[in-house]
Amino acid sequence: MANMTKADWQAAAKALRIDGRAFINGRSVDALSGETRPTFNPGNGKQLAQVAYCGIEDAELAIASARAAFASGVWSAMAPSDRKMVMVRWAELIEQHREELALLECLDVGKPISNTLDIDVSAAVRTIRWSGEAIDKVYDEIPPTPANTLALVQRLPLGVVAAIVPWNFPLSTTAWKLAPALATGNSVVLKPASNTPLSALFIARLATEAGLPDGVLHVLPGPGGSLGKHLATHMDIDGLTFTGSTPVGQLLMQYSGQSNLKRTFLELGGKSPNIVFADANLEAAAAMAAVAVFYNGGQTCTAGTRLIVEEKIRDEFLDMVVSKARDWMPGDPLDPATAMGPMIDEGQFNTVAGYVDVGRKEGAELLFGGKRCLAETGGHYHEPTIFAGVHNQMRVAQEEIFGPVLSVLTFKDAAEAVSIANDSIYGLAGAVWSRNINTAHKVAAAVRVGTMGINNYFGGDMTVPFGGFKQSGNGRDKSMHAFNDYTELKTTWIEFE
Ligand code: NAD
Repeated sequence: MANMTKADWQAAAKALRIDGRAFINGRSVDALSGETRPTFNPGNGKQLAQVAYCGIEDAELAIASARAAFASGVWSAMAPSDRKMVMVRWAELIEQHREELALLECLDVGKPISNTLDIDVSAAVRTIRWSGEAIDKVYDEIPPTPANTLALVQRLPLGVVAAIVPWNFPLSTTAWKLAPALATGNSVVLKPASNTPLSALFIARLATEAGLPDGVLHVLPGPGGSLGKHLATHMDIDGLTFTGSTPVGQLLMQYSGQSNLKRTFLELGGKSPNIVFADANLEAAAAMAAVAVFYNGGQTCTAGTRLIVEEKIRDEFLDMVVSKARDWMPGDPLDPATAMGPMIDEGQFNTVAGYVDVGRKEGAELLFGGKRCLAETGGHYHEPTIFAGVHNQMRVAQEEIFGPVLSVLTFKDAAEAVSIANDSIYGLAGAVWSRNINTAHKVAAAVRVGTMGINNYFGGDMTVPFGGFKQSGNGRDKSMHAFNDYTELKTTWIEFE
């Protein structure tokens, strides 16, 4: 399977049987209303499958079942070492279905098959296995209290958690939420993005096969504005974990305040700075500048969309970046050689094209790309695009475009680079490139973001927390820190006679 060609993947896609039913109480079921909505392949615009369109009544069923499962202790009170075994089995089952799941994600999201196979599925497997393996190694605390007393400080699951995830990394963000939420003993109701529900439904079925008790996990495909809002305002949901846009994150905080103050953790948007000094390894920095913005068609929260270059190397460095951008011309997602696929849908394509117009009108210089391509396929493909001469006050420097559009700015010294980098409502990620350890470390320390690379971009793995400063959010996915978002601290104070 490892050396499958484009023709092999096309044949596999034809033979693929897609189950678009919701997953409630351990079973695949239709929405109670019987309603469905089509999901489309962004690579050719064609309908892929019909998917259950869940509403309030499905949410009520799932929440009641999740609550009953939590109260019964069937999972929440299971020994951590037993929960671990279920999670590890689940990760193994996902691994065994690697090709099918990668294909499903490729067709549903338009991500290149090489990415879904090597990055998305692998990330999901590692996240679930890692969180499962960690959970029976977490100790609680006995603090230094006075003699004749004993205090226990324990981490307990929140209860019923709602998870709402976006369309750009459906499988990996789903795993980032489900793994720590389930490992810590919660029940979960997950709402995938309405246009990319298939991989979450697929892995939920495998969770049951791995031994996750019925009622602990539910997946409800459906609309954000009604179903998502219902979960976020529900009085019987104890925690809400969200990955998505900053405006929706702002609403979710309000919903929490207006309902039961459910613990609400947000992973939101970004406009991340990628700072290049003249003394950097320019070849490596140029290659990664292109990866940072064009990977996943720029539909990445951490995309390095503001390239901030030392003025004296501007022209030389931009020539190098433009030459790297040529490697990112979009192609068929089923072709293993494709680096970049389409935009998720025509709406997102139009958003990107709209920003290209904005950049031109703002007076930025279009250095590369800027147009639709592969129109004959019926897919929503946009060229990798580079604007030079950008000032940080321009909209193309401040707003999250969520497409393959790079804005290039320049700086004269480290202080100016940091000041441009921090002049943003976002604080998700960033990078600095320099061979001088003092410059690199000082700049990295001064940029207010959750993840900062030095001489790399997108660095990190399951061992480190991931999340944002400022309006990029308040939660942390991955690592043991993610467990904090899904647990309450409980003190038991004992006095001896
Ligand atoms: P979105 O905010 O439009 O939607 C995200 C999810 O929220 C979807 O499931 C949607 O149905 C739901 N939703 C929409 N309105 C809702 C409401 N009123 N109440 C409850 N739920 C609602 O985001 P998107 O367009 O799917 O994804 C792109 C965004 O996600 C970008 O801003 C990107 O930066 C961000 N993102 C952040 C991270 C991160 O970890 N920080 C990772 C990936 C994506």
